[in-house]
Amino acid sequence: ALRLDTGWTIRWIRRSAEVLAANRAALNTLDRDIGDGDHGENMDRGFQAILPKLEEVTDETTPGAVLKLVATTLISTVGGAAGPLYGTAFLKAAGAVGAVQSLDAIALVALLTAARDGIVLRGKAVEGDKTMIDAWTPAVNAASAAQTAGSPVGTVLLAAADAAEHGAQSTEPLVARKGRASYLGERAIGHRDPGSQSTSLLLRAAADLMS
Ligand code: ADP
Ligand code: MG
Ligand code: MG
Repeated sequence: ALRLDTGWTIRWIRRSAEVLAANRAALNTLDRDIGDGDHGENMDRGFQAILPKLEEVTDETTPGAVLKLVATTLISTVGGAAGPLYGTAFLKAAGAVGAVQSLDAIALVALLTAARDGIVLRGKAVEGDKTMIDAWTPAVNAASAAQTAGSPVGTVLLAAADAAEHGAQSTEPLVARKGRASYLGERAIGHRDPGSQSTSLLLRAAADLMS
């Protein structure tokens, strides 16, 4: 079975950078509909900035240290709403996993929960506000249920990715109560929240590495 060790964490971030680059235009389009059109650009810039730093990672590095590197890079390069929100998510995730060399299902759920809680602490969104939280919270709940049922890490990640994807879709009929889209009132109805879509892509990238 695959282990969620430092090498895996690095592969996840590299894969995420690839997926975000491939979805840059699509995320910009979602954000053009209900925001300012830069979400794909913001996420792509942030994850591309991480890649050279991953080259310098040493053997003693832990998954938590990689997550912290991602956090500091996103905070310093992404800007906008998503930079501090994802930055805080990765920073809290790093804190939750500590210095362990490999993540079991319990640590994985702790990571996802801390990431989501960090975003809530920072952005104060609740489920149904049409934000990335609408992908994160179902993902945390599904991962937690899978872990409680005794599922292996790969199954826990798949449950999180599936729930995030469904959660991103669920933002389409909503009116936004946080972020730029909240200025649009009912005109936001019928459009998917871009941040929920990038969250879904990040978690899918992680789940895809398990198969
Ligand atoms: P900006 O809106 O500054 O241009 P981005 O376009 O990069 O930033 O990110 C927009 C995304 O950020 C939204 O689609 C939404 O998912 C997320 N977002 C905005 N405000 C909040 C908030 N208060 N809590 C959670 N997520 C938020
Ligand atoms: Mg934007
Ligand atoms: Mg912007």
